[in-house]
Amino acid sequence: HLVTDPKYGFLKQLGINVENPGLYDGRWGGSGKLIESISPATGKVIAKVRESTPQEASNAITEARKAWPQWASIPMPTRGDIVRQIGDELRRHLEPLGRLVSLEMGKILPEGIGEVQEFIDICDYAVGLSRTLPGSIFPSERKNHALLEKWNPLGVIGVISAFNFPIAVYGWNSAIAMICGNTIVWKEASSTPLIAIATTKIIASVLERNGIPGSVASLITGGSDVGETLVNDKRVPLISFTGSTNVGRQVALKIQERFGRSLLELGGNNALIVTQDADLEMAVRAAVFSCVGTAGQRCTTTRRLILHKKIKDEFLGKLKTAYKSITDRVGDPLDDGVLYGPLHNQPAVDAYKVSIQKAVEAGGTIEFGGKQIQRPGFYVEPTIISGLPAGAEIVQQETFAPIVYILEVNSLEEAIDFNNGVEQGLSSSLFTKSIGNVFQWIGPHGSDCGIVNINIGTSGAEIGGAFGGEKATGGGRESGSDAWKHYMRRATVTINYGNELPLAQGIKFE
Ligand code: NAD
Repeated sequence: HLVTDPKYGFLKQLGINVENPGLYDGRWGGSGKLIESISPATGKVIAKVRESTPQEASNAITEARKAWPQWASIPMPTRGDIVRQIGDELRRHLEPLGRLVSLEMGKILPEGIGEVQEFIDICDYAVGLSRTLPGSIFPSERKNHALLEKWNPLGVIGVISAFNFPIAVYGWNSAIAMICGNTIVWKEASSTPLIAIATTKIIASVLERNGIPGSVASLITGGSDVGETLVNDKRVPLISFTGSTNVGRQVALKIQERFGRSLLELGGNNALIVTQDADLEMAVRAAVFSCVGTAGQRCTTTRRLILHKKIKDEFLGKLKTAYKSITDRVGDPLDDGVLYGPLHNQPAVDAYKVSIQKAVEAGGTIEFGGKQIQRPGFYVEPTIISGLPAGAEIVQQETFAPIVYILEVNSLEEAIDFNNGVEQGLSSSLFTKSIGNVFQWIGPHGSDCGIVNINIGTSGAEIGGAFGGEKATGGGRESGSDAWKHYMRRATVTINYGNELPLAQGIKFE
């Protein structure tokens, strides 16, 4: 166990032991399977976790539901103050928690720390929202009547998250859902349980010292059976699900059957377009981070580079040079100076190999990379493939690995057609200096994605805007803007403060 290795002393600081309970519903427990958490950089066991059973997951929902009336009765700015304290506590644990993200998920340390920072940022945002959350008053057509909207919390929110953002996704959901007055049951990806346990410990310490039941922010660990318990439970009015399109589709149908609400953040097949008038140096730098950052394991990773014919060769040449410099910076994500870490696990390496084989069989040319890197852990080469048509089956799919396909176009219209010609609709970028291109891109005939960028890459969103995508990406929006509305129910309230009873539309019923 890495827990006993002094090099990983930060695990002790976070309360991670050799064997950890994986359930928290106000009390720590768990009597399910004992699973191993594996470091992607070494393939070695970090520590073990006793997962929750489906019955324990159901009990956690009961506890979160019991805590709800007390939590929902606290004034919103006071709930905001609790979230502020959570943000402060996360600040104190920024470094060790960021290190744990690197160790267990496999992303490089600056990104691990960046993820915790994102949770802190959304806490700050939620604190502000707790004092500014708006409601509307509309003019009533009836004399002496008021027409207004009242927003109330939903109750217990289920958050099911993916391995690649093991803390930020929970942060986006929980900080906003909590100030709105909901309690939460979180199911983390089964391969990143230690991050969930460490995060929950931090939040629980704040709740407990404020005399609030810890079950306001409960944790269940486990696989699809535990996830399904949450999805199928009518006591959970909203499930916020982040993960693959395939699982998301099944989850959405189940929730629809019981008329629950779902907030879906699913897969992407993101394109970056470079026009002939673009700043190529800047476009190449952006493409490198978007294609190989997090070893291609962001939902917003660039999977397709759509290049104008006139600049294609020059761009590709520069890109390959940049990729070469990245291969000198491969290493343990916790080490200084490393820019490129491992894939998360062995199935991810297998999926990478299968996709490359399929691309080559379909007539693609490997311009760069294409092989597993021979060292311990789950490392693969960042890969560029050209020569496939935009409609090729493999180009249409999201492979969660650092593979990018090069597509050549003659015009912006063709590039937009390619951008939109996939089932997903998450992130998209255009590099151009033309104001006309910009407005074409952001207008009704432009990108059909939820994230539409100009002269920056496809990944690395800020918390202030709403995050999410269209089509098979699920249509959900999280984080900033008015994403808080997902976590509340809207009541349209009509109040008659007069002595008469006029009907709307001037109807007479007498
Ligand atoms: P996944 O779909 O395999 O798993 C996601 C979560 O669902 C995990 O917690 C898993 O245990 C759970 N789960 C699996 N089967 C379930 C079931 N039947 N019922 C309920 N829960 C179930 O995804 P992953 O491999 O962890 O993550 C990668 C995927 O997530 C990629 O497709 C990526 O694009 C997507 N993603 C999207 C966003 C976004 O914001 N749009 C963000 C991060 C990741």
